Amino acid sequence: MSITSIPRALDDRLTGRVVRPRDPEYAQAAAAWNVAWTHRPAAVVVATNEDDVVAAVRHAGEAGLGVAVQSTGHGVTVPADENSILVTLQHMDHVRVDPGTRTATVGGGVRWAPVLAEAQRHGLAPLVGSAPHVGAVGYSLGGGFGWLARRYGLAVDSIRSLRVVLADGSVVTASAQENPELFWGMCGSGGSSLGVVAEMAVELFPVREVYAGSLLYPAEAATEVFERFREMDAGEDFTGAFNVTAFPPLEIVPEPIRGKAFAILRGCHVDAAAGQRLVDEWRAWRAPALDMFGVLPFARAGEISQDPVDPLPAATNGRWLARLGDGVGGAMRDAVLGGEGPSPVLFAETRQAGGARPPGPTPR
Ligand SMILES: Cc1cc2nc3c(=O)[nH]c(=O)nc-3n(C[C@H](O)[C@H](O)[C@H](O)COP(=O)(O)OP(=O)(O)OC[C@H]3O[C@@H](n4cnc5c(N)ncnc54)[C@H](O)[C@@H]3O)c2cc1C
Repeated sequence: MSITSIPRALDDRLTGRVVRPRDPEYAQAAAAWNVAWTHRPAAVVVATNEDDVVAAVRHAGEAGLGVAVQSTGHGVTVPADENSILVTLQHMDHVRVDPGTRTATVGGGVRWAPVLAEAQRHGLAPLVGSAPHVGAVGYSLGGGFGWLARRYGLAVDSIRSLRVVLADGSVVTASAQENPELFWGMCGSGGSSLGVVAEMAVELFPVREVYAGSLLYPAEAATEVFERFREMDAGEDFTGAFNVTAFPPLEIVPEPIRGKAFAILRGCHVDAAAGQRLVDEWRAWRAPALDMFGVLPFARAGEISQDPVDPLPAATNGRWLARLGDGVGGAMRDAVLGGEGPSPVLFAETRQAGGARPPGPTPR
């Protein structure tokens, strides 16, 4: 298989750098967070600003190559191959928070963590998901369902504008007012099929302290925990989840849960006092094996799910359900615990949707 050689002229057009397959740092430059995927592009362009993205896209067009885009590699679905240039954006990570307009303007490759930290200094929060180390743009373009979803909606509806590098290398703003059709297409597209986002502006919401965390019940109680979750009417201030997890017997897993399986109530209430009352009712219903709910500054939202931070191999799947039928809890339990033998599924989770429907770009 021949590999297209990328001319040195491209290097001269960049502030960032070009990494080619023979360069020692190629594997590292092309690495994704989800190590189940391996990118093998003709070159990696490590972009440091919008002009670098423009140069990479223009060069790809001239050379007849495709363009793949990566911020963190949490959401790879198709690996970049030798017919494409992989543009990585992790250095385009600036964050500007304007508390007056309650917006954050962020670089195309930024992770949520620094956006959350900066916003929290002003008592504000972006619609971050369960893992603040996920990329803000990839997450938001794919919908973005986080712990504030029932109160404030999906992250995609919080996008105010995008600065987009198009396939011909031109740069445009997409918003409800400017290029609205492109904006509509980008929002919910899940990524880079229409252009590369060099910068994104999102709305922020007034959230300081929440009541959040997990109650872990033994996996044998999965059916009862699911039924109680299904019947619970917690209101839109609470975004909750029912989860079944089989924690692997590995050293990195804390001792009390290592090698054990649990049925879990997880969630986040934006009114700390009301949240405590809600979770106290669960505690009174049945004492959990482990109680990890409490008052939490939203800056520490990553502690609610405690998703793994370091790169690992993973395969995930998700879908919207119109309602939680009788069989859902049992099916989740069986998928994780395995019927007749060990299961490759580590966890299954259903999150409560519904609630907020803010005006936004999502198709409806
Ligand atoms: C541990 C973990 C926890 C998660 N938690 C949640 C959650 O709570 N809620 C939820 O809704 N989702 C969640 N997700 C899913 C996550 O939102 C997606 O995997 C998302 O695609 C990750 O975006 P990324 O930019 O980090 O990843 P990447 O793999 O870098 O990008 C994902 C996609 O977005 C595109 N993209 C990235 N940046 C840009 C850009 N600047 N311009 C154009 N396209 C771009 C990429 O080309 C790719 O198609 C989680 C995933 C993981 C691994």
